[in-house]
Amino acid sequence: MSENLATVAYIGATILFIMSLGGLSNAETSRRGNFYGMLGMTIAVVATVLGPRVTAAGLPWIIGSLAVGGAIGVYAARKVQMTQMPELVALMHSLVGLAACLVGFASYVDTSVVYTGAEKAIHEVEIYIGILIGAVTFSGSIIAFGKLSGKIGGKPLLLPARHWLNLIALLAVIWFGAEFLAAHDVDAGMLPLAIMTIIALLFGIHMVMAIGGADMPVVVSMLNSYSGWAAAATGFMLANDLLIVTGALVGSSGAILSYIMCRAMNRNFISVIAGGFGTGGGSTPTAAAGEQPAGEVVAVSAVETAELLRSAKNVIIVPGYGMAVAQAQHTVYEITKLLREKGVNVRFGIHPVAGRMPGHMNVLLAEAKVPYDIVLEMDEINDDFPDTDVSMVIGANDIVNPAAEDDPNSPIAGMPVLQVWKSKTSIVMKRSMASGYAGVDNPLFFRENNRMLFGDAKKMLDEVLVALKA
Ligand code: NDP
Repeated sequence: MSENLATVAYIGATILFIMSLGGLSNAETSRRGNFYGMLGMTIAVVATVLGPRVTAAGLPWIIGSLAVGGAIGVYAARKVQMTQMPELVALMHSLVGLAACLVGFASYVDTSVVYTGAEKAIHEVEIYIGILIGAVTFSGSIIAFGKLSGKIGGKPLLLPARHWLNLIALLAVIWFGAEFLAAHDVDAGMLPLAIMTIIALLFGIHMVMAIGGADMPVVVSMLNSYSGWAAAATGFMLANDLLIVTGALVGSSGAILSYIMCRAMNRNFISVIAGGFGTGGGSTPTAAAGEQPAGEVVAVSAVETAELLRSAKNVIIVPGYGMAVAQAQHTVYEITKLLREKGVNVRFGIHPVAGRMPGHMNVLLAEAKVPYDIVLEMDEINDDFPDTDVSMVIGANDIVNPAAEDDPNSPIAGMPVLQVWKSKTSIVMKRSMASGYAGVDNPLFFRENNRMLFGDAKKMLDEVLVALKA
């Protein structure tokens, strides 16, 4: 493939990536958006492999790597459970970071192209920054993977003087950067580069370990953004325009998503960027867990739940992580259809951080074919709870916790929540009295107008459906 044809293919792929992002911004056009993205990526890969910069000797390596990587990708995609998606995404971000590091080191030791003067300085700055972003993304994403999969506890690790440690790390990175640029040959430059990489890896671990459970959504979207910038840095190192553009698209859309997540959690975007977040301004989850909310817990059966639903005029369903675990979305929709046929106004209230990844609930409800017009965002539905007869909370916990509004010492204080307790009756469906991801007790369970339907969400909803049909 000639240079010109490859350039045209790259421009085509870039346009498809932009159209893909446009499509993904709306649930109804998201399938098309995904298709554009896949098409763009296929064109990008084919144009790169057949392009002028790949020699015949390199081709078997590329095809071999594509086959191995592709096979692992297909296996992982087929095997992964919907509930493991967030961890998988974190793991993929880590690979982008690792790739940026490896490309950085490879292009530093590659002496086939000789840079001189300003070009040499620019190339080395690209390498240094690329490896820096890549290493932070790599280790940060590995820790995020551990936290999301429950292999590492959600409690924030707060080292004494951690802000000072971060500042010292930043100054050291700048100092070693100067040493690196002043080095006369590869051997001399390797030491400061390796030391900076270790500092960046430790910083990535420290940054994510210091994040409390409730703040994890912001970290997930921030790492998404970092992985984009790592890819863009790789593009600079390889002088590949398409990689620069694609990385910048991922980086900036991830940054916008981080901003949206910050707003949803009432966190300050600037302090997040500066790394000044962690305990969420409150006490740690363990401290909060000490105080037991007052009141009595009233359990109901599936038959009683069906009874309450049948006699309701307005119902709001609030799904959370437990619905994803139980894979209850299809039964939820069966119940919704049945109630709507009986004239009950059923709608869904979606919290921006429900589940374990942005848009988690929307994806599950779309999979179950729930019509988009009855799926409403938190801001659109929160004022309607006082006029609601029954709010049905399915495997959600933190996102309906009134302590976020009432208890200034709660780790989730200030986070907007779905005010289900304002409806006539709220029914919380979960297996036990256990806390949610943030590790905070939920006083909702003890409210007078709240009922608990204990059990696996899918099993209990199946029973509710049978009772409704009877
Ligand atoms: P939570 O984690 O607060 O609560 C989920 C509840 O589901 C648990 O209390 C659990 O209780 C219950 N549950 C688990 N399995 C089942 C099952 N099989 N059947 C019935 N219930 C079940 O989830 P929310 O969606 O309310 O809130 C999301 C939390 O995750 C927030 O703290 C958010 O910050 C965090 N987070 C969100 C991310 C995002 O991007 N959306 C990313 C990372 C973290 P029990 O064990 O008693 O059944």
